[in-house]
Amino acid sequence: MVPGGRPDLQPQDLVLLPELDEELLLETLLSRFGEQKIYTYIGDILIAINPFCTLPLYEKSVSDMYKNHEKSPLPPHIFAVAARAYEAMRWRWTSGPQNQCIVISGESGAGKTESTKLLLRQIMELCKGNSQLEQQILQVNPLLEAFGNAQTVINDNSSRFGKYIQLRFSDGTVKGAKINEYLLEKSRVSHQDNGEQNFHIFYYMFAGMSVADKELFGVLEPLLYRYINRTYGDEAQAAYWKEKYQGVCNAMDMVGFEEQEQVDMQTILAGILSLGNVVFEPQETGGVTVALCSRGWLKAVAGQFGVQEEELLNCLVHTVSVTRGESIQRLHTQQQAEDARDSIARMVYGRVFGWIVRKINELLACTVLPDVELKEIGILDIFGFENFSVNHFEQFCINLANEQLQYFFNHNIFLMEQKEYEREGISWDTIIFNNNQPILDLFLAKPMGILSLLDEQSAFPRATDATFVEKLNSNFKGHKNYETWRSRAPGFTILHYAGKVQYTANCFLEKNRDTLPGSIRTLFINSVTPLLSVLFAATVSRTGTLMPHQKGKVKPLEDEKFNTSRKQSVGLQFRHSLVILMEKMYSANPHFVRCIKPNGNRQPDVVDRKRILDQLRYNGLLETIRIRKDGFSWRPSFQDFTRRFGILLFKPDLPLSMESCLSILQTTGLTDWKCGKTRLFFKYWHQEQLLKIVEHL
Ligand code: ATP
Ligand code: MG
Repeated sequence: MVPGGRPDLQPQDLVLLPELDEELLLETLLSRFGEQKIYTYIGDILIAINPFCTLPLYEKSVSDMYKNHEKSPLPPHIFAVAARAYEAMRWRWTSGPQNQCIVISGESGAGKTESTKLLLRQIMELCKGNSQLEQQILQVNPLLEAFGNAQTVINDNSSRFGKYIQLRFSDGTVKGAKINEYLLEKSRVSHQDNGEQNFHIFYYMFAGMSVADKELFGVLEPLLYRYINRTYGDEAQAAYWKEKYQGVCNAMDMVGFEEQEQVDMQTILAGILSLGNVVFEPQETGGVTVALCSRGWLKAVAGQFGVQEEELLNCLVHTVSVTRGESIQRLHTQQQAEDARDSIARMVYGRVFGWIVRKINELLACTVLPDVELKEIGILDIFGFENFSVNHFEQFCINLANEQLQYFFNHNIFLMEQKEYEREGISWDTIIFNNNQPILDLFLAKPMGILSLLDEQSAFPRATDATFVEKLNSNFKGHKNYETWRSRAPGFTILHYAGKVQYTANCFLEKNRDTLPGSIRTLFINSVTPLLSVLFAATVSRTGTLMPHQKGKVKPLEDEKFNTSRKQSVGLQFRHSLVILMEKMYSANPHFVRCIKPNGNRQPDVVDRKRILDQLRYNGLLETIRIRKDGFSWRPSFQDFTRRFGILLFKPDLPLSMESCLSILQTTGLTDWKCGKTRLFFKYWHQEQLLKIVEHL
């Protein structure tokens, strides 16, 4: 309430709205947004609307203010989420999880990556300690973005991979970090749709490398290169890219990449670009060879990759298969040679990216002794939900990950909470929410989910994208989240939680198999460029499956159990890495940030009401407000509560029981809480009130 007893029509916490309907929710968010208040709470959940312009919200003074983290007196802010996660990690009074995870969701361009950076920055501010490590951790994002982000039609800096950053602490000081990456969109290396670009790093190289370095690495004029569609930016863009290139080089130095490694990496990247310019022509004797006009490019690639030109050519123009001990060479058609070229380029890039992440993990690994207890804050920033006019295997995986996240949110906010009320005998009117379990089952069920059928077809040599779609149609026709296509082209439509997406099935089987021909592996293992040989000798993650790192006294990581030696499809590996991620997240205490995109044109001050409303709806925000308004989001056990707040009774040896809890609460004058069979049920603001009472003792 505002002074005078009127309901506050612009509360900073939507739980305080006097009534609950979509219109009012939208109006409140928009009127706040109109005053540059981009953050709003729903209880402990933060809603962030992307302003698409720089606002004075993140200066040092603001950061300092939020370090003294008390939530209520300060306006909602992403820094408050950082403080809450940090405090909760240090909270010694719970037998529940102390590891924290911050889950940031929203569609492509909604602001997840920006929020991640702000969170990291603020968490590093909070734990000021080993400042070199903190600085190194802050450099990780620009580095990963250069190699893993690209301009799309939706977002100029779109993440083309998912990441979960685990920050590890001991006594509140950061001791190390680990990045888990998921499913880099490698296809972008060799092909970009209209209005899109390749990964940023290529543009940065053209703009930022010195003339001497360009000569050294064999980088020519950008407009010559097919893999960037022979298009480049204007002067202003080039100046920006130049700066970014410097940033990447500095970040690599600071994180600890050796000079030779950087040189090798740049040579390999230049090699990828040259490879894209190799074209083929038919040979009179059958098959194809490299066209005369691109012989120079082949020579350049061979030099850059450190391999023999003839051997590279062989890999491009034939396939060698071994049947019953006999090796048979088959000549490639023009199309097959082009596919081989593009797939080599994608593999090499994918492995460079995997290597960068592994290196970062080695360099930032904890060096504490194994018996030091580490606590963790994880931040999840994946690629947002995507719906283009044509959607491919990549969007299929991206959207599956988003379904999984939505389920995680629902599970935490609705399912677990309501089940607990039932179990503990708390009277409660059930809140109905849009459960996306059927969509997850459609994707993941065994043996009959889409991914299983995709694997089955991928293992079958004669199967095609069309037979895969036939399989889907015969299994899922009539499923409420599946629609068949009317046209003859192979494809299918999924009704996702966030809308209907049409997927073309072209290349699904090939992308799912993602095979690396043995001849190419041998070629690269024998490369004289040490890095390339390392990339292909090691079992490097191809899809973002979590890679172990090895250094000194590092504690073993849970996910090292996963062994990639058996050849697995991309879909299966992705499913596996999602399972591991979910296990981690389910065992931590979650904090949610829901990013909203106010318009589809990246414009400041423009609000598209329908778009926003759609996002509020599919995110289930109205239901979330209801459950946060009526529900009890803090649910300590009798033991935890007595341990922490027993001090209010000034009695030694207080039994850790319900009776003690009730006596403690009597002294506080708090209302609106409930008592269950094994725990207490509090509104989200009660914890802060109790802490204030303790502080004033
Ligand atoms: P994707 O799923 O495509 O990776 P995303 O959700 O990570 O998208 P971001 O890259 O974080 O989206 O944001 C897109 C753009 O929106 C940013 O490049 C920036 O210009 C702008 N933006 C996002 N958040 C903010 C903010 N808090 N303040 C100012 N601008 C912002
Ligand atoms: Mg992003």
